[in-house]
Amino acid sequence: MIIVPERLIAGLVSETDVFNAVEKVFVAMARGQARNFPVVREAIGCADALYGIKAGFDQAGLALGLKAGGYWPSNITRGITNHQSIILLFDPETGQVKAAVGGNLLTALRTAAASAVSINHLARRDARVLGIVGAGHQSVFQMRGAARVRTFDKVIAWNRQAEKLSKLADAAAALGLPFEAADLARLGAEADVIITVTSSYAPVLLRDHVRPGTHLACMGTDTKGKQEVEARLLQDARVFTDEVAQSCTIGEAQHAIAEKLIEPANITPLGAVVSGLAVGRTSSNEITVFDGTGVALQDLAVASIAAEAAIVRGLGQEVSI
Ligand code: NAD
Repeated sequence: MIIVPERLIAGLVSETDVFNAVEKVFVAMARGQARNFPVVREAIGCADALYGIKAGFDQAGLALGLKAGGYWPSNITRGITNHQSIILLFDPETGQVKAAVGGNLLTALRTAAASAVSINHLARRDARVLGIVGAGHQSVFQMRGAARVRTFDKVIAWNRQAEKLSKLADAAAALGLPFEAADLARLGAEADVIITVTSSYAPVLLRDHVRPGTHLACMGTDTKGKQEVEARLLQDARVFTDEVAQSCTIGEAQHAIAEKLIEPANITPLGAVVSGLAVGRTSSNEITVFDGTGVALQDLAVASIAAEAAIVRGLGQEVSI
């Protein structure tokens, strides 16, 4: 097997590679060629951490494996990334471990790619203002991903602690995009596309904040109990997701489902839209919501790219186990 450490990842995969791989795996899921296994995700009662295992098999891409790791919210005070994970790839013919790949940067890249795929397929073509709710580790990746698929005139953002918006402002400047801090009412009134990417356990963005025609990518809720937007918003929107089973249990839709505002049948896999099996946005007034819960198959797809690139370039470390 090959070990591909975290420090090599940035040089092995591009944002384009990751976008294409995530879009492709969403299509494989919609066609029934790839499936995610039930997620394990638990609060471990130490350092406020959430730890879990996501696994799956992509028959089309022959990617079998798992990502183990999670979210340690206080890591920032230690100067290390809050998401810590490793992705293990197995040979689907023999069960032998093929690769162990650092999963920290890949998690941020594949999450931004999922959001960007949703924006590409569901946001209005004339979207001009990008709104971002949250300014944590993922937010800069999210902004860069969105800017790849639409030509925005500006970015407006809100964060619970406004002083932490400076990192996003710098990243917007690097993209040549004007940046403004805004309250949630203004953000909702002006934004055509809104990405929510907080670790909140209570609604931050409310139904009345959001105007017709908005596309929302709700990326922060990946665990039972987390919530970023008012459940009523999903009732008034068309809801799309990476994986319906996860959306209903650990995604943003868990609350609208629990409150009986929507049913699982109201949630459309994004891959079905990408592959033409389902319709996406049908009017410029519709509110569309992508409930991005994060699936194992995304991790396996991007780790496969990193492992293959490492092998081709003679990087990483071959070991026998
Ligand atoms: P982070 O710890 O770096 O940042 C957390 C952000 O949430 C900050 O902006 C913080 O101000 C905000 N926040 C926390 N509690 C809040 C509250 N009660 N109200 C409003 N804002 C609040 O985390 P991150 O790495 O940026 O991740 C953000 C979220 O995205 C986490 O919940 C994480 O688990 C999730 N995530 C999802 C996926 C996926 O595939 N969907 C992948 C990676 C991360």
